[in-house]
Amino acid sequence: MSIQGRVHSVETFGTLDGPGVRYVLFLQGCSLRCRYCHNPDTWTMKGESVTDSDSVVKEILSYRSFIGKGGVTLSGGEPLMQPDFALDIIRQCKDEGLHTAIDTSGSVPLELSKPVIDEVDLVLLDIKSLDDQQSFSLTGMGNANTLATLEYCESIGKKVWLRHVLVPGWTLDKGRLENLAEYLKGFSCIELVELLPYHSMGQYKWEQLKLEYTLKGVKEPNSKDLAMAQAVFEKQGLRVLMSGIAKKEETKVG
Ligand code: SF4
Repeated sequence: MSIQGRVHSVETFGTLDGPGVRYVLFLQGCSLRCRYCHNPDTWTMKGESVTDSDSVVKEILSYRSFIGKGGVTLSGGEPLMQPDFALDIIRQCKDEGLHTAIDTSGSVPLELSKPVIDEVDLVLLDIKSLDDQQSFSLTGMGNANTLATLEYCESIGKKVWLRHVLVPGWTLDKGRLENLAEYLKGFSCIELVELLPYHSMGQYKWEQLKLEYTLKGVKEPNSKDLAMAQAVFEKQGLRVLMSGIAKKEETKVG
């Protein structure tokens, strides 16, 4: 049975959200309010048109020859805010032999997210901060659900690419990064740590939505700071990818 859901936009030739060329589906809805969010227009479910999982998968399959050995990534917003919709898309894509990934902050309780995590091939898990208080201040929510999600992935042997945004004055701090690297080294499910340098590319969207952008004036990290961050994780034997800043081409749906 096709499941109804809300899609914000799609990116048909993504290369940043999982292995190979990705069809990236940005789902609507997120309960976090990250100060640096690039997509504040995905937060609410209001005003977005409803589609259904069968139509979404049909559209994905029309790109099959371009996706090749890549796959499909569900991003957002927070894709686990629509767990039944996400699960049906992932199941159908897997039935068609496509690799699947989910890009999540892990903020959704495991009671809701487990079926999707069980099914998907790869979890791109974004830990905003290992410090619960800083997580709350940076995103409006503590990190308990995110850490529980990582522990669950470890318990079932689910592959994880761990993501962490480096924000000067917040998370880009040697001591904090050392604590995080120390914590992460104990997880064998983590294949890769992807470090994402802060940038203010999404600031104009906040202005369009008449929201206050509280990181105004925060500069993008310099190469010395990024090298320091990379070295901290590599010292713990973790494989690190320092993500480049690429402009994503999105196609608005609805
Ligand atoms: S989790 Fe992602 S979509 Fe949600 S507020 Fe944070 S950056 Fe934005």
